[in-house]
Amino acid sequence: MSNVLPLPSDQDSTGRTFGPEELENLAAALRSGTLTSTRGEFTKQFEQQFASLVGSKHGHACSSGTAAIHCAVAAVNPSPGDEIITTSITDMGGLSPILYQGAIPVFADVDPHTCNLTAKTIEARLTERTKAIIVTHLFGNPCDMNEIMDLANGRGIPVIEDCAQAFLTSYHDRYVGTLGSIGCFSLQQGKHITTGEGGVCVSDDDELARRLFLFINKAWGYGDEKPDHYFLALNYRMSELQGAVALAQLPKLDGVVESRVRTADALTSALRGLPGVETPQVTDGAVHTYWKYCLRVDENVVEGGAVGLGGKLREKGIACAPRYIQKPAFCCQVFRDQVTFGDSRWPFTLAQPSAVNYDKSLFEGTWNALRNVLVLPWNENYTQEHVDYIAVSVREAVTELTGVEQTVE
Ligand SMILES: *Cc1c(COP(=O)(O)O)cnc(C)c1O
Repeated sequence: MSNVLPLPSDQDSTGRTFGPEELENLAAALRSGTLTSTRGEFTKQFEQQFASLVGSKHGHACSSGTAAIHCAVAAVNPSPGDEIITTSITDMGGLSPILYQGAIPVFADVDPHTCNLTAKTIEARLTERTKAIIVTHLFGNPCDMNEIMDLANGRGIPVIEDCAQAFLTSYHDRYVGTLGSIGCFSLQQGKHITTGEGGVCVSDDDELARRLFLFINKAWGYGDEKPDHYFLALNYRMSELQGAVALAQLPKLDGVVESRVRTADALTSALRGLPGVETPQVTDGAVHTYWKYCLRVDENVVEGGAVGLGGKLREKGIACAPRYIQKPAFCCQVFRDQVTFGDSRWPFTLAQPSAVNYDKSLFEGTWNALRNVLVLPWNENYTQEHVDYIAVSVREAVTELTGVEQTVE
């Protein structure tokens, strides 16, 4: 392990943007003695400023990205057995809320180059029971939303955007999260901005936003003349401690994104022409904000493919993830064995057979994508030196694994 250059990491202070601004807000929150967001001001301010930043009417903060997705699913209010089309290359937090609301996750295939859903793959899974579509803008690159929204609007089906990895990702000059009916973001430790754990939903739709708010608050009608618990819901509130940090993180987001895009573009230039390695595809009309930097490795050119190259990079201290989540979500035990509530298998018991058919032939893009991707960690604190180190490491590794000498352009 000679000459390893340590890279900033989003798991500690080397790769996070906390400073005196967060400390000051935290101290003020504590001094106020009010740590619940039902009464404090930090979370409310964060909600307003976040919504305004992305260009949405309403913002509602919550306890995690998973909670944000749960709120969104609850807001569209599926009946048990209704189907929600989604992707199997995503975080489990984007999927388990579907089952908690009694709906059936119906997995659509992805484009193997972007790992994202497309209008075509979604259309193939539409049925008369489709209640909503959840798209994940994976790694910070948006799905091609024009076609997806045309399809969904044509059928009156709401689209939930999982933007956990896609802060300030834009698509034809609009930020993701504002293209569908509801946008969901995560403030977990490793995301573009963070409160350790946390989440936020945005929506332009007054009624959906009202349901988001209620679902976060045990469906208690705060401020109503005769409040009640209107429906089944949880406490998914963000605390003022998180709100204080979130509010201080927000003004840093522009800089975080600008830096990530600049250094990612530099790596893409540095890797140009490398045989067997495909740099990230950016959707037409989009700005990819690089939560991660995802390479596609051709196993016919690079010995051992993504795993082989990943192994070499790890020796150089680059904590990459060959094959990202390793297997499609539907191969996880919860889906494979339908492990839910007691021995009931509910709500899978309500599913049409086609909805839970995970046959390999239906998911060629998904299997192809996961076999070939090599996900590099990315960070706002990368400098040109870090980018050069990664570029040289990749080039050296590819040289060793192809037996072809690479010339640096
Ligand atoms: C991180 C993430 C989530 C879950 O967010 P948590 O805050 O960890 O609950 C959901 N979807 C995607 C795409 C994510 O990356």
